[in-house]
Amino acid sequence: MSWLSNFVRPKIQALVRKPDATPDNLWHKCPSCEQMIFHRDLVENLHVCTNCGHHMRLPAKQRLAMLFDDGAYDRIDTPKVTADPLRFRDRKRYTDRLREAQAKTDETDAIQVGEGRIGGVPAVVAVFDFDFLGGSMGMGVGEGLVKAAAVAVQKKRPLIVFPASGGARMQEGALSLMQMARTTVAVDRVKEAGLPYVVVFTDPTTGGVTASFAMIGDIHISEPGALIGFAGQRVIETTIREALPEGFQRAEYLMEHGMLDMVVPRNALKETLARTLKLLLKLPPVAAPKPGTALAEPVTNTVTPPRKPAGNATARPAEATPRAEPALGTAATDEPHKA
Ligand SMILES: [Zn+2]
Repeated sequence: MSWLSNFVRPKIQALVRKPDATPDNLWHKCPSCEQMIFHRDLVENLHVCTNCGHHMRLPAKQRLAMLFDDGAYDRIDTPKVTADPLRFRDRKRYTDRLREAQAKTDETDAIQVGEGRIGGVPAVVAVFDFDFLGGSMGMGVGEGLVKAAAVAVQKKRPLIVFPASGGARMQEGALSLMQMARTTVAVDRVKEAGLPYVVVFTDPTTGGVTASFAMIGDIHISEPGALIGFAGQRVIETTIREALPEGFQRAEYLMEHGMLDMVVPRNALKETLARTLKLLLKLPPVAAPKPGTALAEPVTNTVTPPRKPAGNATARPAEATPRAEPALGTAATDEPHKA
């Protein structure tokens, strides 16, 4: 027994130790500028390099916690799917790869769905985890997105998706490719219900994910420097035998060329999303409660300070002006606008 508890157990624990268990005094090297950053500073700065502003990849759980008011949200369980339907094997069995990814991320697949409030606005959010087999989209991820869209429609909530993916999951073959059609239909239902569907691109978003639900958002936001594209730059260059421009497939380039609406730094993302959702849902832009006035709807009861009209390119000009007198109590705050 002592051999088991003193030797075997620590070994196993060391093998399956979660990334959260990283000691606080560790240093991280920025992949962009190679500056060494203190772990705690990096966490405080939302995993953005304090030196060059490089946005590092984030585990899905952290992203969800960062996004919702007070970090509070309800997890929505995604349906179970058949593991390894093709009994696929390359250098390793697919089942082994799955098991490893599950141990590494403590999740069953590369997507997590949560429901909560962003700046007071209730929303359903689906987040990809790039640490889980490169955020690849197999049946599990497809089911997750379909479920997220279904909950959004059922509860009349806007849907926000944060893709971070290498594309389709090749170990699931055609079943993985089918998820492109399924997820597209699923988010279309959200749109048909007159609910906002916002995509927030994170590094990297490529392959079948870009070729399906990710590119049909009502609003496309991206984190700075994110790689977004279908095929890789080298593949395109060798196919067309032409050098591609600098920064091709990066968020900033894509915004200049009309593929994205906004490039928003991580620390401004939550506020931007809250403002965007309020514009699309025709909610009063700011809750500036008059003295002695109780807000009828908790939805409008935000903690954000009064702000000027949003001057963003994405906002429809007619809606960018805050209404002077938000009709409290009469505004159908939970009603989506009909497009
Ligand atoms: Zn850096």
